[in-house]
Amino acid sequence: MSGDTHTPHSAHKLVIIGSGPAGWTAAIYAARAQLSPVVYCGVAKQDPGPVLPGGQLMLTTEVENYPGFPNGVTGPEMMEHFQKQAERFGTKVVEQDVISCDFSVRPFRLTVSADGKAPSGEIRAHSVVIATGAVANWIGLPNEMRLARSGGGVSACAVCDGALPAFRNKPLAVVGGGDTAMEEATYLTKFASTVYVIHRRDSLRASKIMQQRYLSRPNAKVLWNKVVVDVLGENSITGVVLEDTVTRERSNLDVGGLFIAIGHTPATRFLKNAGITLTEKGYIHLAGRNSATNIPGVFAAGDVADEHYRQAVTAAGMGCTAALDAERWLAANDVH
Ligand code: NAP
Repeated sequence: MSGDTHTPHSAHKLVIIGSGPAGWTAAIYAARAQLSPVVYCGVAKQDPGPVLPGGQLMLTTEVENYPGFPNGVTGPEMMEHFQKQAERFGTKVVEQDVISCDFSVRPFRLTVSADGKAPSGEIRAHSVVIATGAVANWIGLPNEMRLARSGGGVSACAVCDGALPAFRNKPLAVVGGGDTAMEEATYLTKFASTVYVIHRRDSLRASKIMQQRYLSRPNAKVLWNKVVVDVLGENSITGVVLEDTVTRERSNLDVGGLFIAIGHTPATRFLKNAGITLTEKGYIHLAGRNSATNIPGVFAAGDVADEHYRQAVTAAGMGCTAALDAERWLAANDVH
């Protein structure tokens, strides 16, 4: 690891960790306020599914509900616009991860990594905005993880993987009953012979419009009150074992692909031992209607601190709040 060459005087005024809508919006506001923000945008990795700089929108096709885009926009295109706008005002972008934080010293000490794993250096920052978002959940079955890691037809992102030739004209399954499950399942109806949504209850959590969009497809099915208890197949998936949540009866379902859409976990692992207060579910706890964490000078924005709304537009709004809060905090603490 390179030594800590930053004296307090050479510390960054503001480091933003994360490059989704929250991170870039914080950067746009902070750059215009002349805080010379540095965005650590992260590195692409498998954890165990794909995690990309730009966040979850990089794994989305059409975004139809972000105001200002009457004809929709793709997630990656939108993130490119966000980044360009932040850079236009002088935001510096570093393609590295922040892998741990020491908030007990001032300026704060952040350990960074060029490959997302091994430490490659340290930076100092007077203030920090954490905007690391959230990553997809997995059921946690051994065969699910094995086939996900080996590219054996198990994925947490239909939009990234569903169009692959291996999935064409086969029966495919999506686990989950929320908007993500509907979005992914609807997308897969274009390629699959049949799509099965496997849901653990007898009603969907997804919004009515998303449900209708899926259910209107001729090859769309829902298997109610079912959970996946095993994934079958050596090198690639051949089926799943289902258990009925009411009768406990087990049955096999032949599928050529399995897509997990059961929600997300906030990306807060790098904050272990950093002293930031988290909620029961692991999201960053915000003290009030602002972006302040329990540590003065550390702010949070977007999905990492929002277990309720989790929308691109709400994340962007939180990013704006965090930059304004950081600006005021820096001024109040005489960091110029
Ligand atoms: P979500 O709303 O939390 O839904 C997760 C689903 O997975 C629920 O149906 C849940 O079942 C099920 N589930 C959770 N753990 C499970 C397990 N271990 N085994 C089996 N099933 C499990 O998550 P989401 O669908 O990812 O949506 C997250 C947020 O993003 C929401 O606010 C959503 O509106 C938004 N979103 C919006 C759009 C859009 O508008 N275009 C698209 C995608 C997502 P239960 O229902 O029984 O709890």
